[in-house]
Amino acid sequence: MPDDAAPPTDFIREIIDDDLATKKHTCVATRFPPEPNGYLHIGHAKSVCLNFGIAAQYGGTCNLRMDDTDPSGESLEFVQSIIADVRWLGFDWADRLFYASDYYERLYDYAVKLIESGRAYVCDLSPDEMRQYRGTLTEPGRESPSRGRSIGENLDLFRRMQAGEFEDGSRVLRAKIDMASPNVVMRDPVIYRIKRAAHYRTGMAWVIYPMYDFAHCLSDYLEGITHSICTLEFENNRPLYDWVLDQLVEGERPEQIEFARLNVSYTILSKRRLIDLVEKGEVDGWDDPRMPTVAGMRRRGYTPEAIRAFCAKIGIAKNENLVDIGLLEHCVRGDLNEKAPRVMAVLHPLPVVIDNYPEGRVEEFACANHPQNPEMGTRQVPFSRVLYIEREDFEETPPKKYRRLAPGREVRLRGAYVVRFAAAVRDASTGEVQEIHCTYDPETKNGPPADGRKVEGVIHWVSADHSIPAEVRLYDRLFRVADPAGVEGDAMEYLNPASLEVLKGCRVEPSLLAGKPGSRYQFERIGYFCIDLKDSSGERLVFNRIVPLRDSWSKIAGQAPG
Ligand code: ATP
Ligand code: MG
Repeated sequence: MPDDAAPPTDFIREIIDDDLATKKHTCVATRFPPEPNGYLHIGHAKSVCLNFGIAAQYGGTCNLRMDDTDPSGESLEFVQSIIADVRWLGFDWADRLFYASDYYERLYDYAVKLIESGRAYVCDLSPDEMRQYRGTLTEPGRESPSRGRSIGENLDLFRRMQAGEFEDGSRVLRAKIDMASPNVVMRDPVIYRIKRAAHYRTGMAWVIYPMYDFAHCLSDYLEGITHSICTLEFENNRPLYDWVLDQLVEGERPEQIEFARLNVSYTILSKRRLIDLVEKGEVDGWDDPRMPTVAGMRRRGYTPEAIRAFCAKIGIAKNENLVDIGLLEHCVRGDLNEKAPRVMAVLHPLPVVIDNYPEGRVEEFACANHPQNPEMGTRQVPFSRVLYIEREDFEETPPKKYRRLAPGREVRLRGAYVVRFAAAVRDASTGEVQEIHCTYDPETKNGPPADGRKVEGVIHWVSADHSIPAEVRLYDRLFRVADPAGVEGDAMEYLNPASLEVLKGCRVEPSLLAGKPGSRYQFERIGYFCIDLKDSSGERLVFNRIVPLRDSWSKIAGQAPG
């Protein structure tokens, strides 16, 4: 477990402290139990950090368990992505990778035991009838006509359910609890159903599958879990979790604790909706850099340290709320500010000719890779007569406080000389500035002008002949409303059409040729960027914008909410 900060405290850790003090438990064993029916997202990352973090803090263990008890939608691809993502986040489960599907045999035996003790029965009601019989929050349910079946008949029918004698949906196994319970969950819940679908691990060996409420508590028990941490929507299911264990097991048992799931603004954290985005082609797969998935954030260039810092910062709560995505970006910026080497890249190149700089001459400037960290060293950046600067670093009629290049003005080219504007060359038909001319002051290589005149602005640049062409992808919020999950109607209608902008003609300094896919940099004065893991190659450099240097969004969003 990575050592990021002092261990936090929260209501879950208080419960654990209590349990250890009262000897209810003598050790701490947690688990992270994803269903392999999609990629992990930032909400899962929170649960990963919580479960593995608690285990490490208390000297306990955390299992990785594939909660794969529903054949539809589960796959090996998802299992592999989950393994890769949890590992990338920085956590280690040693040899404790488990699959709920490995427990099918034992779960079946538990179900038989439940029938034998008269606490489960095979029910013939159709799904519709079952709904009608269930009652409502204000009215009690009615007992199924199948409820009085003998143990022998139930055992026989359950065996035949698994033998494939009955149609999907024609019969279920139900726990016999209390149809009048004020908690609807306890009104004889279904614990097994018939489903003919190939499971990615067990194939067609089983045609009956256990329901979550039956499988989860027993899986926890079989693994010796002490604290089974899950999200709030399972709060009403806790009595059932305990009921199943009460009927079937003895001795030390796991306890379920619920916390509020993470919601992040301008994105969506529901696997079903993320699958939709992928399948409808709204994004370039699960690892599209705009996706809130761990794979997407990795490709975007986020670091595991930043994601862990975010999860620690938001803490654990009992009430759902919406966390500002700006906080996640703040954590990313904070981490990269320390780690990312500085380089120069020009996204919208404007050619600049230094008229008094000799043609053919090239100087190499040693530029610091990090202004505060000399240990990160320097690199050589070539300077020549023709350069590129950002289009927006030149203004013919500059606004107040503009400290860049303009008629009559001087600026410093970062790490190189002070240059003075001389002339602008325009396109004859459009009038657009195509190129500018400057003169340089040879005395300013190692310091300010000798005559003491002030040069305030500093801009970045690259040498035209030496720079490398690159594609740069600018990412923005995936949705244009803060809470897409909370809007009426289809969230997909609120996708941000400007969430991806591709810039083709960018120029970057030649040191970037040595970069590897995934390498992260600060493009000076612009933001943090990384070399794309998928599309970048030696011939065609592709960068993703991880996060701009400063947050421009909150200002804009503040002006026009939604
Ligand atoms: P979804 O609702 O997106 O389909 P899920 O809860 O069904 O997600 P699981 O694979 O069952 O997905 O989740 C694995 C674990 O991660 C569970 O313990 C679940 O409680 C936790 N988890 C899922 N989403 C979040 C979230 N947004 N915040 C915190 N924990 C989460
Ligand atoms: Mg789930």
